[in-house]
Amino acid sequence: MRDIDGMGTERALCVLAPNPSAMTLDGTNTWVLSEPGSEQVVIIDPGPKDGKHLRRVADVVAGQGRRIGLVLLTHGHPDHSAGAKRLTELAGGNVAVRALDPRHRLGEEGLAEGDVVTLGGLELHVMETPGHSNDSLTFWLPADGAVLTGDTVLGYGSTVVEGKLGDYLNSLDRLRRFSEEVGARVVLPGHGPELNDPIAALDGYIGHRRERLAQVEAAVAAGARTAREVVERVYADVDKSLWRAAEASVQAQLDYLAERGALPDR
Ligand SMILES: [Zn+2]
Repeated sequence: MRDIDGMGTERALCVLAPNPSAMTLDGTNTWVLSEPGSEQVVIIDPGPKDGKHLRRVADVVAGQGRRIGLVLLTHGHPDHSAGAKRLTELAGGNVAVRALDPRHRLGEEGLAEGDVVTLGGLELHVMETPGHSNDSLTFWLPADGAVLTGDTVLGYGSTVVEGKLGDYLNSLDRLRRFSEEVGARVVLPGHGPELNDPIAALDGYIGHRRERLAQVEAAVAAGARTAREVVERVYADVDKSLWRAAEASVQAQLDYLAERGALPDR
């Protein structure tokens, strides 16, 4: 069993939420970040609205002799965001929740491409990486060479693409280029264990998507017409509880192929 709870870097510590499932893998990774010597932490993804988990996050922060200064969301899916408001209450209120999507914010400030968030000397750079969801962000923690990817890149398995596949592929390509440029040392994902070779992880993700696209094209060539029909062929080896999610992914792939004129007329 991987030790996900308690993993991290000098500045980032994972508190694992107890919400494991086929979609959330071992559960949601709540990240507690701070600069050495700082009295404040940034929380990335408070996790689900689970009182025990949120209290544990608050206790971990208190145990460090720190307080929660800011909450950031990688995206608005409830397994990452639903506990945000409750966590700010546990933190004594007056803590902002910043996200790309205004519906998930608490306070005035949002987050967008190119923002640099600083707190107590900690520095995080914001990148918009749509695909898993339209509001997906990645945070770069330069001091630790760490890329916090939310659900854009997971610790294992592959993510669901709810947005446009073209956006997702661009996000992966961009993260790969970026990771190479800056010499990223570790991926800290929204679910699953940390990945100590970001380039290899991204190459794996990109390769997997290309392979799936080729499979979808082959399934269409063999007569599959609907997303469901494609899923039945391409995901035959995958747990059926994931088929509904897979259907959304396949629909995104069909749309992507159709946009590029790579599908036969139907
Ligand atoms: Zn998600």
